[in-house]
Amino acid sequence: MTLEDDSLEYHEADPPGKIEIATTKPTNTQRDLSLAYSPGVAGPCRKIAESPEKAYDYTAKGNLVGVVSNGSAVLGLGDIGATASKPVMEGKGVLFKRFADVDVFDIELDITDVDAFCETVAAMEPTFGGINLEDIKAPECFEIEDRLQDEMDIPVFHDDQHGTAIINGSGLINAADIVDKDLGDMKVVFSGAGASALATAHFYVSLGVDPDNIVLCDSTGIITEERAEAGDVNEYKRVFARDIEGGDLADAMEGADVLVGLSAGGIVSQDMVRSMADDPIIFAMANPTPEIGYDEGKNARDDTVIMATGRSDYPNQVNNVLGFPFIFRGALDVRASEINEEMKVACAEALAELARKDVPDAVLKAYGDEPLQFGPEYILPKPVDPRVLFEIAPAVAEAAMESGAAREEVDLDEYRNALEA
Ligand code: NAP
Ligand code: MG
Repeated sequence: MTLEDDSLEYHEADPPGKIEIATTKPTNTQRDLSLAYSPGVAGPCRKIAESPEKAYDYTAKGNLVGVVSNGSAVLGLGDIGATASKPVMEGKGVLFKRFADVDVFDIELDITDVDAFCETVAAMEPTFGGINLEDIKAPECFEIEDRLQDEMDIPVFHDDQHGTAIINGSGLINAADIVDKDLGDMKVVFSGAGASALATAHFYVSLGVDPDNIVLCDSTGIITEERAEAGDVNEYKRVFARDIEGGDLADAMEGADVLVGLSAGGIVSQDMVRSMADDPIIFAMANPTPEIGYDEGKNARDDTVIMATGRSDYPNQVNNVLGFPFIFRGALDVRASEINEEMKVACAEALAELARKDVPDAVLKAYGDEPLQFGPEYILPKPVDPRVLFEIAPAVAEAAMESGAAREEVDLDEYRNALEA
């Protein structure tokens, strides 16, 4: 059986799909039912009508995330439309539940128009504690997220942008530490200037990378001011346009400390790796084929090359599941109104710190012969590491409280203990 056959069978096994609704209160007696629905339900309705924030006390809103897509940029598949994206969105729900016990309604909208999309999602605010935008193509995804963040009073988070940025940003913190370089001095080159690359470039600046040391390349080459002035790049790429000589990715990579690949498979050669600065960091994250393979990158030179890819069959997988379940867990538990930069940075730093600690035996066993000790082959924790939940969610909650995004205070020690239990 191929993976595809296996997956078809997995999905069509009765009941079709991967999720269902479960009830959380007794429903055995007539009395139970009259509490759950009419007439008893009027009580909580009245309370919420008086003070809307009571929805967090009397309904599932506070543990419910809307995973919303229009299917315009589905991972590995492209613009397949809303209905065809449903297995992916249900799958996202599975990950939210499995890793952080967050419930999800997957919402597939047959809408490509930005205004109509925003209007529809904004109207769903009463239902949800947060919105995870998913697989929406660039550049529309930037405007959609900006507008919804402005309009809505709950977190709106486009995971393909910020989830990716946070996880590889966390890897960058540790990789820089291992090769003993300062983020503020490193020259960082991006291959790609789409949804994930632009978000990552912004996030690197939040982490301390100097914007003057960032060079972005798209499919035409280096994004220069000359190209920006010629109207050759959109407004989102333009932010990073540099007043330097034009050229291609190979030109940009000469002397660079870091290459961030969020573009296309197989476009980086060993010679290009050899042209980089000492002990280079290469995050080749195009899926399923990285910009350069893990071994090919590592073996290109004799000094330390820290490689990360999106692949699970090599060390240092950059996998968004390390972020979104726990970010939303922490945000929901303090009833956050947004997921702000402070919360994202807190997540990246907490993940980086966790990777420096010894790994529990159960996790070691799950990964067989991988070394899993802080160093070039282990810069990020593994998603199945149970500590990720109770390290990351409290770090995000704490940042939410300190930055003013939280509407509810939690005692961090108690919160952490409750997550661990
Ligand atoms: P996107 O918005 O479509 O952006 C793709 C970018 O790559 C565009 O800027 C495009 O240039 C550029 N590009 C395409 N082909 C290129 C080539 N041959 N040479 C140089 N640049 C090229 O896509 P995205 O959502 O950001 O994702 C980009 C890649 O990263 C995908 O392979 C995706 O699977 C991967 N990814 C991985 C992770 C992860 O590992 N965790 C997370 C997110 C994304 P133009 O702007 O000129 O079209
Ligand atoms: Mg996605």
